Formats: sequence, structure tokens, C-alpha cells
Amino acid sequence: AKRRGGNRAYAYDAAMEAAANRKLEIESGLRKAIERGELDVHYQPQVELKSGALVGAEALVRWKHPVQGYVPPSVFIPVAEETGLIKPIGEWVLRSACMQAKAWQAAGYEPITVSVNLSNRQFEEQHLPETVGAVLSECGLEPNYLELEITESMAMDVTRTIQALQGLKKLGIGIGIDDFGTGYSSLSYLKRFPIDKIKIDQSFVRDIANANDDNDTAIVSAIIAIARHLQLKVVAEGVETQEQFDYLRREQCDMLQGYYFSPPVPADRFERLLREYGSR
Ligand code: C2E
Ligand code: CA
Ligand code: CA
Ligand code: CA
Repeated sequence: AKRRGGNRAYAYDAAMEAAANRKLEIESGLRKAIERGELDVHYQPQVELKSGALVGAEALVRWKHPVQGYVPPSVFIPVAEETGLIKPIGEWVLRSACMQAKAWQAAGYEPITVSVNLSNRQFEEQHLPETVGAVLSECGLEPNYLELEITESMAMDVTRTIQALQGLKKLGIGIGIDDFGTGYSSLSYLKRFPIDKIKIDQSFVRDIANANDDNDTAIVSAIIAIARHLQLKVVAEGVETQEQFDYLRREQCDMLQGYYFSPPVPADRFERLLREYGSR
């Protein structure tokens, strides 16, 4: 028994060490990724239910490692956040998305709103609103076509976050709360943060498997009702099935996003979607 315990402890140490090495490897790879052009932005359509129009795109970063191929965001974003690399990466994604949105406008497509994910660590930057404002004017994009998606976290300095959000709002951009319902104090944030939109987390949308079962749909319905009362726009993400689509239409959710319409795709393929949905 003693030997077995010893082996288990050894296996544990080895696993810890492997994880630490993997983290270091990701970190050093990420440091080079921007300059080497290994990062790319994919876009996922957001569709307005009432009109069926493609009205927005969420920008999602992709990293193609020269040897390992695509590294999932769930693997490298946490490392980027821990090391602070999310700041230059986040700014690069923001600039890319704003430039792309402007380029689509210039090509004659009906303007859409780009949503860019903002890591909590980016709130540490002293001049976040100034940085975002500079990117907008550099790209020539009107601020109402940019939205930032934020998530709540325990680590967040609430007073500072509210200040930064107010600065961002003054620019004229939109603010959305991502993964709504999964945080630890979503409801109080709705009152305190100057936000325009909430995104229902995909875990709740996934629960709409049997739309006749009240237990599966209660949370989604409640979030939509809260949004309506507070006059916030509401987006459901992770919409995959006809059943989910039908349910969300009955509940009059404002916007939908998910594989039901399209996965996130490279900019050239997104342009094809813009053509299919037609421009006014
Ligand atoms: P998120 O912001 O909640 O993004 C939505 C995720 O759900 C994306 O995963 C998207 O590909 C996936 N998704 C979209 N539709 C469906 C669907 O119908 N079914 C399912 N099962 N999944 C769907 P992705 O691109 O792997 O990103 C994962 C997370 O990584 C994001 O979650 C976000 O938290 C983070 N992330 C991605 N790009 C960025 C970025 O540029 N900056 C920051 N700070 N975080 C990012
Ligand atoms: Ca998001
Ligand atoms: Ca989300
Ligand atoms: Ca998420």
C-alpha cells in the first residue's frame, strides 16, 4: 500500500510539472504569435429575430501554432490572462475587428455591429477608454458599431470597472454582459453597470432541449423578462437546434447567435454570409 501511495504522489508531481511546462510553452509561443502573424480573428453572425437580418458579429481570436496547429481559446486565453499578454492580444483583436467592420462598410454592406470580448485584466489599463477611442478613430469606425462584451468576476475591482465602463459609454460604444447568469452577482451588476445588452449563457440555452418542460426553460424566460423590464437588449448564444430557435422566437428574444446559423468563420467566409443575408 505504501508503494502504491508513493507512485500516486509521483504521478501527481509529474502531472503538475507537465502542466507547468505546458503553460510556459504556451506563454512563450503567445509572445511570438502576434509578430509572427499566427493570430487571426473569426466572426460569428448575430441575427435579429424580428427581421431575420444579420445585424452583428462576435469577434473571436484564433491562434494557429506553426507546429501544434489550432490551439483552442479555452487553453490559451487563461494563460494570456494570467500573464497579462491578454492586453496586447486584446488590443490587436479590437483593432482587427474595427478595421474589418469598417472594410465591410466600405465594400457596401449594410453596417453591422462588431462585438469584441474584453478580459477583466484589460480594465487594469489606466487609459482603456482612450485606447479604445484611438482605435476607433484610427479605423474610422463610428462608435455605435462597436460593442464590448464583459464578464463578471470575483477579482473585479467594481468601482474601477464602473469608472472605466462610464468612460467607454461616453465614447458611444455599447456594453454587453457575457455569459449572463453564470457569474456570482449578475443581478446587482445589472443595476450598477452602464450596460446595453445581456447575453444568455449557452449552458441555459442548451437546457431548452424539451421546450415543454418548464424546468428547462424557466431561467431563459426569466432572463428575457429581466432584460425587457430593464430595457436591455438580450442575445441568446449557443443556439443550435430548431427547437431552441422556436422557443426563443416565442419568448421574443432580441437576437440569436449559434451553430444554428453559423459557427465562427474567417472574414472572407463571413463576407459570403453578408452577401447571402443581403444588404439593403
Ligand atoms: P465566449 O465569449 O462565450 O464565446 C462563445 C464561444 O461559444 C466561442 O468559443 C464560440 O465558438 C462558441 N459557440 C458559438 N456558437 C456555439 C454553439 O452553437 N454551440 C456551441 N457549443 N458553442 C458555440 P471559442 O471561440 O472557442 O471561445 C471560447 C472563449 O474564449 C470565449 O467564450 C471567450 O471567453 C474567450 N475568447 C475568445 N476570443 C477572445 C478574445 O478575443 N478576447 C478574450 N478576452 N477572450 C476571448
Ligand atoms: Ca463573448
Ligand atoms: Ca458567452
Ligand atoms: Ca465564456
